[in-house]
Amino acid sequence: MAATQRRPKGSVPPHGTVARYVHGSCRCDACRRERRRYETRLAMGYSVKVPSHPTVRRLQALAVIGWSLRDLEAETGIDRSTIRLWRNGRWATLSRVGAGQIADLYARLWRTPGPSAEARAHAQRNDWLPPHPALLPKGE
Ligand SMILES: [Zn+2]
Repeated sequence: MAATQRRPKGSVPPHGTVARYVHGSCRCDACRRERRRYETRLAMGYSVKVPSHPTVRRLQALAVIGWSLRDLEAETGIDRSTIRLWRNGRWATLSRVGAGQIADLYARLWRTPGPSAEARAHAQRNDWLPPHPALLPKGE
């Protein structure tokens, strides 16, 4: 930050802050850099990837006890087509946020039989494994 920078009196935030970028509409290097860092932190939860294996197991286990994609969509608000791809192990990784949502879901439902006979039959045809305490999230 240049010490020679003239600062109008009043409430204008200093350079190198998101506030100056937004409220002062400043596009100097310091303000832009700080703005980028801020956006990165915001996006972090979605851009950080984790291995999908525990999520796959949790979703398959929930199917074994009768939780269908439709049920899980209703429980989480996550689109069922996304849940299906996760459950099928289509991807080696997924966002940390998504994995955390499914971990929470599993912790909530793993001992509660779901309503779907179709989900149970589907799980049986695929030899999916039932819920297990080891799949509970550990402070994720
Ligand atoms: Zn600035």
